[in-house]
Amino acid sequence: MIGHDGVASSQTGTGGALTDTVAARTGTALTVANLEVVYNDVVLVLRGVSLAVPTGQIVALLGANGAGKTTLLRAVTGLLDVHRGRVTKGSVTLDGKDVTKVEASKIVRSGLAQVMEGRRIFAELTVDENLRTGAFTRRDKAGINDAYDRAMDLFPALQSRRKDTAGYLSGGEQQMLAIGRALMADPKILLLDEPSLGLAPKVVEQIRDIVVAVNEQGTSVLLVEQNATMALSISHEGYVLEHGRVVKHGPGKALLDDKDIREFYLGMGEAGRRSFRDVKTYRRKKSWGS
Ligand code: ATP
Repeated sequence: MIGHDGVASSQTGTGGALTDTVAARTGTALTVANLEVVYNDVVLVLRGVSLAVPTGQIVALLGANGAGKTTLLRAVTGLLDVHRGRVTKGSVTLDGKDVTKVEASKIVRSGLAQVMEGRRIFAELTVDENLRTGAFTRRDKAGINDAYDRAMDLFPALQSRRKDTAGYLSGGEQQMLAIGRALMADPKILLLDEPSLGLAPKVVEQIRDIVVAVNEQGTSVLLVEQNATMALSISHEGYVLEHGRVVKHGPGKALLDDKDIREFYLGMGEAGRRSFRDVKTYRRKKSWGS
């Protein structure tokens, strides 16, 4: 059914049984089970979503604009309240611990870090200062210094810019800084929200390699992406979300060959010449259910 056993198949629908199987086999860094989320007490956005990030793996979450990806991340990170949203059903489990409705700061302390969409760095602070803010949950000086050295190893481009104001970095460097800052907390699981958005193809390749390197160093990754080629090429598993439901799930490599995925997402290669807006319109026209 899923990647580790090498069986190349995908499936439709959600399924607690699926996540249970994964959990039993490998242990999970993150389990989302049958999650329902409502905004403003009326708008139902997630409709029974289940997914799992097995420990040590990269899992891609794909979906068109408005599919509910950011909402899922908000639910996992405990940030729904800020957006007047709440979990009305289901659960979120981190490393075996139920964190549904737990507040965001406690979730960070339990080993989760997120790089939000749009490279939210502190533009006025230096590269070094940005990195140090990422360690705000930690008191172990030696560990912080190790994490800092690790970030510098992973991002040689930042080494010579350490004392520079972050706002003057290129888009790619800012994305690296945002990832580096998240790693300063030494997370067990890293959530990345569209890290390739707006970056040149060459920089996207660098980001992809960095995600692989981070994962190889032992961090599990949930990678939310519109760039399906990039995400699926490095992911052990992938999920496709549409209208708040998981409509497809399977090994990353199998999804790359999936006809619907090719039509719906890998058309992006050709669409690279279209405007982003056109791509959005194109995507909205296609429904997985049809
Ligand atoms: P995108 O790639 O455009 O960010 P997404 O897959 O991340 O899309 P979400 O941002 O989670 O999707 O939005 C899912 C749905 O929830 C959309 O219909 C959106 O309008 C709605 N939504 C998001 N935030 C709120 C909110 N605070 N209040 C009400 N509705 C919201």
